[in-house]
Amino acid sequence: MVHEAVKTCVVERDIERLKYIFVDCLDVDPTFEKYKGDYEYCMNDSGLGLFEKHVELTPMRKEKISWDISYWNSIKMDLIENFSTKRFQHMREVAKVVHAEKIERLLREREQKLIEEKRPQMEKCRKNKGVHSDDLWRRKLRCQCGHAFAKTRWHSKSRDFTTYTYKCYDQTRTGTISARLKNGLSIEGVCRAPLVQDWKIHTMAQKVLHAVFDDPEGTVRSAADMLGCGTAGVEQAEVLRDKSIIEEKLKKEQGRYETLLDMRMNNEIPREVFGRKQQEVEKKIAELEQQMMQYGDVKPATEADVSGKLENLRRLMGQPPVPEDEEFSEEDIDKYVFGVRVYEDRFEWLLNLSPEARGELDDAGSPVYFTKLTVTPDDERAWFRMHPQWSKSNKYAELEAWIYI
Ligand SMILES: [Zn+2]
Repeated sequence: MVHEAVKTCVVERDIERLKYIFVDCLDVDPTFEKYKGDYEYCMNDSGLGLFEKHVELTPMRKEKISWDISYWNSIKMDLIENFSTKRFQHMREVAKVVHAEKIERLLREREQKLIEEKRPQMEKCRKNKGVHSDDLWRRKLRCQCGHAFAKTRWHSKSRDFTTYTYKCYDQTRTGTISARLKNGLSIEGVCRAPLVQDWKIHTMAQKVLHAVFDDPEGTVRSAADMLGCGTAGVEQAEVLRDKSIIEEKLKKEQGRYETLLDMRMNNEIPREVFGRKQQEVEKKIAELEQQMMQYGDVKPATEADVSGKLENLRRLMGQPPVPEDEEFSEEDIDKYVFGVRVYEDRFEWLLNLSPEARGELDDAGSPVYFTKLTVTPDDERAWFRMHPQWSKSNKYAELEAWIYI
């Protein structure tokens, strides 16, 4: 950056004023950061005549210990008389010593400003992490690795009917395991969650909700067996363990960030190194924070949660939702399913079994294990029979659904 005043001086060939600007600039900004551009601008103008052949005036001192304010003032006077690059370079070194405290303060202020500037950007980033979509399964599906799912076109049977598949967002970056193997790429650290075709998730949703609502008394009975013993009788969700692992990683990165900042303040690392490392750590923190978002406010169930669950379940089963034509509507699914977590070998269904269920996003509460079931190829075939608009699949497979309430 070049200051307007300097540009004007150069245009008007006002050498005297330029000299005064540079003589004072190291008092204003002893880091020279703000004037570097001006200095180069003048250096590049060969016909300017600012820089003179060096003439020895006050003898230049080599020992830093002798660089005091009176020495500083005399070499400033010398610079007006003989503006040599040698003298100016020397002055930049002396300024670092006589203005050491000021440099510290300036660096601190600049770093603070940098953080302030980045804050709104990071806040904005954070807000965009929750998935707000018109698509039911983009809202509900979460990957074992913490990411949400992208929805992509799978197959078009006719012009007006398309089927979709859902893919972990991390895999949209890395590619799936099978795609990587095909291309001879390493699969280390690549998310292993499967692609989820829409018909699989639809079939599973129906089976899970039928399992819970078809026999209300039976559901209440088995829930009461477990929930009746309080937290001692329940198995907390595995999702809690996943969350705590991410939490630990996040804490570690935040610690690294603090250390880095301290090192920079103490001038232990050069600005360029700090800048590079800072970006690195910030990126990791942002990634982990994004993953944390996917867990919403899931927490371990307390005694109050467990008895509350049983109470809600009893009330809901007094008036359970009744599917029309044997099919639960998207609205019912939205209401009673908090979310579905996709693992390599199973799907965890986190249900919200309460008459007040509203399908809140990212609010899985305190899930506890209820039961598990297997969706079979027969279930899948039956679903396809009810939905002839879907092209039949040849990828029938058993799907494990673990149900949490
Ligand atoms: Zn994933």
